[in-house]
Amino acid sequence: VHPHAFSDAAKKRDPTQSNDIRRRMATGMRQSLALWRSQAYAALVEADQFGYSYGDVDPGDIEALLERLDTLLLRQAEFAFTPATDNMETLLRTAYARGVRKAGQEVAPVLPLTNSTTDLILKARTELEAMLLDQIDEMKQQLEEDDTLAAAATRSRHLLYTMAVLPFVIRPLVSRLNALSSTNVTRAYNAGKLDAYEELGIQTVGVEAETHPDHRVPESMLPEENPEAVSFPEERDRPPEAYTVETVGDDKVCDICENYEGNSYTLAEARDLIPAHPNCRCSIVPLT
Ligand SMILES: [Zn+2]
Repeated sequence: VHPHAFSDAAKKRDPTQSNDIRRRMATGMRQSLALWRSQAYAALVEADQFGYSYGDVDPGDIEALLERLDTLLLRQAEFAFTPATDNMETLLRTAYARGVRKAGQEVAPVLPLTNSTTDLILKARTELEAMLLDQIDEMKQQLEEDDTLAAAATRSRHLLYTMAVLPFVIRPLVSRLNALSSTNVTRAYNAGKLDAYEELGIQTVGVEAETHPDHRVPESMLPEENPEAVSFPEERDRPPEAYTVETVGDDKVCDICENYEGNSYTLAEARDLIPAHPNCRCSIVPLT
């Protein structure tokens, strides 16, 4: 097997070649989530910042309780996610610059650009805030709708944390923050490409779709005599689950990407095309 087979396979898994940026952003998000989790636990359970004894909460007071919980979680989130948003902004600029540079290699050298970076950062920040609020709302809704859950969760601060905050806010955010990181890196990379194409006078572009995330280089294809010759040893050594993209329960997402391959789009059309789904890693490529 020619070494190129592996580099092509790796490229098809991530046509934007930005998995390193995705990983760094996701790591920052995970750290912030861990910080938020421990802050929320400390405030709610250990310190009882409300001065509230949940054992005394009248079921009729659940609304007041939820409002205070809402305030507490949002205040903690503001602190916890500030480092990650800084990190997110830097990494989105990096992904954008990589897209600009790649377009320069594909078409013709182009000077560094920053045209769309403000919009990209704003969009990612807005998505992050909406995601945090969405999970807090989900928890409140569960507590409002499920009397049994509310009764149990209001028996103690600890139960409120373990039965409501943890399952409805913290845990769902793990995969959602990964998807947010991944999708926004793809958006930034392609925005960099599209801005550069525009500078370079490109009129139409196509899509290079990633292949199915489960498409891995089989072990049997690895050269036996010289495994080091493989272009991406760190990818080869990673466990299979490292390639499994979480796609909000839809394993057909790659069909979406593949449908775009072979078509030609104007730059304006392409700007709204990719990312096409959470965790999308498709790349815009120049045509004419
Ligand atoms: Zn895609």
